[in-house]
Amino acid sequence: PGNIEELYHQNRLRSIPGIGEKIASKIQQYFEEGTIKKYEELRREIPEELMILLEVPNLGPKTLRLAYEALGVRNLEDLKRVVRDGTLATLPGMGPKKVEKIRKGLEIFLRGQERMLLGEAIQIGEKVLGHLAPLTSRISLAGSLRRMKETVGDLDILATGEKGKIIQAFVGMPWVTEVLAKGDTKASILMEDRQVDLRVVDEGEWGSALQYFTGSKEHNVHLREIAKESGLKINEYGVFSTKTGERLAGATEEEVYAILDLAYIPPELREDRGEIEAAQGGRLPDLVNHDQIKGDLHVHSNWSDGTADLEELAREGARLGYQYLAITDHSKAMKIAHGLDEKRLEEQIKAIREINTRKVGCHLLAGIEVDIHPDGSLDLDEAILKELDWVVASVHSHFTQDATERIIAACHSPWVHCIGHPTGRIIFSRDPYPLDLDQVLETAAATGTALEINAHQDRLDLSDLHARKAKEMGVKLALGTDSHHLGQLWMIRLGVGVARRAWLEPSDVLNTYPLEELLALTRKKR
Ligand SMILES: [Zn+2]
Ligand SMILES: [Zn+2]
Repeated sequence: PGNIEELYHQNRLRSIPGIGEKIASKIQQYFEEGTIKKYEELRREIPEELMILLEVPNLGPKTLRLAYEALGVRNLEDLKRVVRDGTLATLPGMGPKKVEKIRKGLEIFLRGQERMLLGEAIQIGEKVLGHLAPLTSRISLAGSLRRMKETVGDLDILATGEKGKIIQAFVGMPWVTEVLAKGDTKASILMEDRQVDLRVVDEGEWGSALQYFTGSKEHNVHLREIAKESGLKINEYGVFSTKTGERLAGATEEEVYAILDLAYIPPELREDRGEIEAAQGGRLPDLVNHDQIKGDLHVHSNWSDGTADLEELAREGARLGYQYLAITDHSKAMKIAHGLDEKRLEEQIKAIREINTRKVGCHLLAGIEVDIHPDGSLDLDEAILKELDWVVASVHSHFTQDATERIIAACHSPWVHCIGHPTGRIIFSRDPYPLDLDQVLETAAATGTALEINAHQDRLDLSDLHARKAKEMGVKLALGTDSHHLGQLWMIRLGVGVARRAWLEPSDVLNTYPLEELLALTRKKR
C-alpha cells in the first residue's frame, strides 16, 4: 500500500484494509483542515495505553484529552471508572446526553475487546488448521466459529493424532506470541492478540468431543435432556447407557445424533431455536451452501471508492467460479466515495457492456448502490436506473431521519431490486438505526424487493435472526460482500454462514439463481 497522502489524493483511502467510511472521512478532514498536526501533538503527549481509547465510538480526541488532563484518565480502567461514577459529567461542555453517548460507545468498544469478528476468527483459525493439518488425522474448528456466529470469543480447535507432537507444533507456530497453558492433551496460545485453544482427543471420541465443543450451550443442554429421556448419558467422551454404563456412540457426530433418533444437525443451526424438534420430525431445512453461490451482488470498483477496475473484477469473478458479479458503485450523494452521477453511470454501463462482449471473465451486471435520500427519494434519475440490471438502494446518511419510511419508499420504486445493509449496523462500532423491521419486511414481500445479507465482516446485515424472519415472511435474500478490493470477495462465505444460520434454502437466496433466471426475476418487478 502506498503512502497515505497519495491515496488521499487519488481518493482511495478506503482501499487500505481496515479503513472504513468513518476513518477515511477523518483522514480526509485531517488533510483538508490541517488538523493532523494537532493529532500529532496529541500523539506525542499521550501515552500508548490512552491512544487505544481513541477507538471508543463517540469519544473524541478533545474529550479524551480533557479527561486525561482534568480527571487523570490514563487507561481503559480509568475511563470505565469515570463513566461509572459520573465524574466524566463534571468536565466542561459535558451534558448528560453526551455522557450517555460515550457510555454507549464504551459498551460497544468493550464488546469488541472481548470478542472478534467472524471474518477475523476464520482467518486465524484456518491459519492454524493449515499449519497443523499435516500432523493430524482429523482437525476441525469448533465452538461459535464452527457455528459461524457473527462474533467469536475464544477460538476452539479440535484434533486427533499423536498428541505430544501436535501440541508441540501448536505452541511452536511462528505466530504464537505467548503460550498461556500447555498440557498433554490441550494447550492455549495467544496469536494476533487472540486466544486459541487446542484439544487433541482420542480417535474414538472425535464425534462426541466435536459435538460437545461446537455447542451451543443451549443446544447441548437440550440434547442432554433428550438423552436422559431415552436412558442415555451424553458428554464429550461419548454416549453411554445410564443403566449399564456401556459406551454406545461417539466416533462421529452423525453417530451421536443418530443414537438420539435425530437427523444430523448442521453446526450453524445448533442454537436451540427449533432445530432439535425439526430433526425429530424430519423437517430440517436443506441449507444453502457455498458451492451453490453463482455470483456476488454488491461490489465496488475504482469508478467510486473501490480499487479494482472492471476487467480485474470480471477476471476475479471467473477465478472464483462465478457466473456473474454485480458492479454496484456509490451514487453521487456519497461525495467522499466519489459517487457516480447520471453521466458517469451511463459511461460505466457502456464500459461494462463492452467488457461483457469480450468475455474476459464472468458476466458483469451493470448495477448501482443508490443512496436513499432523507425524504425517501432515490439519488439518481429513473431514466438511468431503468438501464441497470441490478439496483441496490441503501441508507448512508442522515440516520436521524426515519429509516423505516425511507426504506419503504425505496421498496415501492419499480427500479429497486434490493435494500443494501438494511439495518445499518456496523459490528463493534455502530448500532443499527431505529427501524421497524416488520413493516419493512411486509413491504419488501408485497413489492417483490429483496433484502441484502451484506457479507462484509463488519456488517453481516441482515443478521441471522432477521434473515430468518425475512424468509418466513416470503422475502428473498441477496448476498453481497460490499467489497472495495479484490481481497474482500472471499467474505461471501460469511454471508453464506449467516444465511445457513437463518435456515435459508437455495431458493431463498438470489445468488443461487443462474444468470438468466436472476435477470428474469429482476425484470419482473418493473
Ligand atoms: Zn453501503
Ligand atoms: Zn457498498
